[in-house]
Amino acid sequence: MVKKLDLTGQKFGRLTAIEEVKSPEKNYTRWLCKCECGNEKVIARASLRSGETESCGCLQKEEVSKRRKTHGLSRTKEYYSWKSMLNRCYNMKDVGYKNYGGRGITVCEEWRESFETFLKDMGKSPEGSSIDRINNDGNYCPENCKWSTKQEQNSNTRQNKIITFNGKTQTISAWAREVGIKAQTIARRLDSWGNIELALTLPSKYGKITDVIQILNVLNKEKQMSNIFETATRKQYRYPSVKGDLTTEQLWELKLLSSNQFDLNNVAIALNKSLKAITEESFVSVKPTPGKVDLETKLEIVKHIIAYKQDEQAKARDAADKAAKREKLVQVLANKQDEALNNMSEDEIRAKLAELE
Ligand SMILES: [Zn+2]
Repeated sequence: MVKKLDLTGQKFGRLTAIEEVKSPEKNYTRWLCKCECGNEKVIARASLRSGETESCGCLQKEEVSKRRKTHGLSRTKEYYSWKSMLNRCYNMKDVGYKNYGGRGITVCEEWRESFETFLKDMGKSPEGSSIDRINNDGNYCPENCKWSTKQEQNSNTRQNKIITFNGKTQTISAWAREVGIKAQTIARRLDSWGNIELALTLPSKYGKITDVIQILNVLNKEKQMSNIFETATRKQYRYPSVKGDLTTEQLWELKLLSSNQFDLNNVAIALNKSLKAITEESFVSVKPTPGKVDLETKLEIVKHIIAYKQDEQAKARDAADKAAKREKLVQVLANKQDEALNNMSEDEIRAKLAELE
């Protein structure tokens, strides 16, 4: 027969055994215990003796709450950030919900379930910063989040602005990756210039405003010219020449100067003469001169074609100059190589020949 153990008065952790509680089963003895906290509870003898049970349950409760407080951060900024993030995404009563949870923004499972993991991934929040998603349409997860200052976030928000160019719509950040210009630069350009094409296409080196003005002028000039050419097509302009009237397309075929005077120079001279005649006429007449604007436009077109051809000629001359210089250098190089061969000894020449066999 198993000897009955008398535990009366014995302490087991916080518990003190008071009296045995009768149990229907053999070998299953329970004891009524008094806990330090004041509670009384019936505990199996085996649990007391093995040390498995050391309190009425108050000890576990304290430990859990102690553990909850050990990170000591429940009242920190990081904890507040974490809580607010969850609220924005999952609490429909949160004022921010419509812009987060309502837009399908979620928090990754690891962060959703554990503040500790969130803190471990994000680290301490630097002074003046708050949680910021790198991609504004992305979720809250370690890859898409960082602590940013208000200023950085503003800049981020700007870089997440969506713009359309050439039929493609994406964020400034995405454009930045595509065109190889910093997102910050694009955003700044858009702010100051308001021209998407320039902001996305101007090479990075054209940061200076003076350069930009110059480029804008060129673009404006091109725009103006294309308008003028449209007018010429629409009005079916004709231009005077020694071989009769020419169309705008035919002007492009003319040379700048030609011995037979069938050239752009003579077209310009003829137009200028007519224009002058009209202008002089209008000194003595108050009648409007309807042909004047057309003549001015025609002259503008001829001048533009002349400027274009001159530019082409200058480029061609430049290219020819370079080609001539290159040819000269190649010749000198060939001479030097010949000289080097002449200076070789017979043995060296034989060796070279052998190499070629
Ligand atoms: Zn207790």
